[in-house]
Amino acid sequence: MCGIIGIVGKKGENVIPKIVAGLERLEYRGYDSAGVAVVSSDDKNQGKICRVRAAGKLVNLKEKLQTANLQGHVGIGHTRWATHGKPTEANAHPMMSKDVALIHNGIIENFKELRFSLESEGYVFESETDTEVIAHLLQRELSKGFSPREAIRNATKQLEGSYAIAVIFSALPNTIIAVRHNSSLAVGFGENFCVGSDSGSLSSMCDEVAFLEDGDSVEISENGAIFFDKNFERVERQHVKIEKTGMVNKDGYPHYMLKEIMDQPTAIRNTIVRNVIDPSVLDGVSRILIIACGTSFYAGMVAKYWFETFLKIPTDVEIASEFRYRNPVILNNTLMISISQSGETIDTLSAIEYVRSNSSCKTMAIVNVKNSATARASDIVLYTEAGVEMCVASTKAFTAYCILQK
Ligand code: GLU
Repeated sequence: MCGIIGIVGKKGENVIPKIVAGLERLEYRGYDSAGVAVVSSDDKNQGKICRVRAAGKLVNLKEKLQTANLQGHVGIGHTRWATHGKPTEANAHPMMSKDVALIHNGIIENFKELRFSLESEGYVFESETDTEVIAHLLQRELSKGFSPREAIRNATKQLEGSYAIAVIFSALPNTIIAVRHNSSLAVGFGENFCVGSDSGSLSSMCDEVAFLEDGDSVEISENGAIFFDKNFERVERQHVKIEKTGMVNKDGYPHYMLKEIMDQPTAIRNTIVRNVIDPSVLDGVSRILIIACGTSFYAGMVAKYWFETFLKIPTDVEIASEFRYRNPVILNNTLMISISQSGETIDTLSAIEYVRSNSSCKTMAIVNVKNSATARASDIVLYTEAGVEMCVASTKAFTAYCILQK
């Protein structure tokens, strides 16, 4: 699952260090490469979009940045989790066309048709990604004389699939435009205005966030954020306070996995103490459907054993990425439980949306991160109190899910 960050700094400020710090806070999502781009403020490249990308860990990107002299007060950064194309530098985001650079979380399902049509008009692709079509679609709209705002609207209308994107334009050097469709995106308010995949990535710079609704777009400048809904009408989105997690560190352990294993007694204690589960949640429920990915799916299998043994309620456990592609039948007497550490797993989120639009059954999220996307999308939320889990291999979050389900 990739990570997105975009920051509008004060004029004269260089936002690269803040973008890199934001990417570090997104590392927990897993990634294979990373990159940043700015509307340049250095004398040589003034007003041009410049980028630096690297395959592998953030340390590789940081090394390249030391010699790249990338500077700008408006910039975007990305940690990529490849879906289309190898994890190479050429496939790392930001993707660019002439006057535009963008980062993307999601999948463009119709990218082959779009690529074919753009190539036949002479657009040259330099990557194997689905994302690059968005950059050239935007460029095509700009070349027709449309403004960046209009280009975003015209280009996104042609996209099928899921996307959270953040875009910078050389013609709009003080602004980031971001759009969300089936993929999570938050706008942060604080010492800077920013956009990010989750509130955690923005928490060191911002006190409040507003989450984009599906189909929303937002224009972020030094003056604030202007939101538009899916019909491109101006809207307001509610601000919520960010829970400050502070900078996470290894507490003297050689690596996060060992630290997080040792965190388990505290995680279990806090999860038990801070959750009171109302038994009426099971009123009228005669089936339980658990949907999750990866480690969370295994926690769901443990829960199935307990729910069927102790509650005598038939329970199914489904892998989120398979679920919505096979037209599942959902009865209204079902309790749907999603499990996700970050609450931002796109397949799990899409499964909740599928259940909500195809039934009237209750949805419950078991999730570790407060105010995350699955929490916001569900009727009932149970938070595991495991604290930030940095390691990609889950330990304390898994134990906390199990405790909560028991
Ligand atoms: N589909 C895009 C790619 O493969 C974005 C993947 C991501 O969300 O990181 O580059």
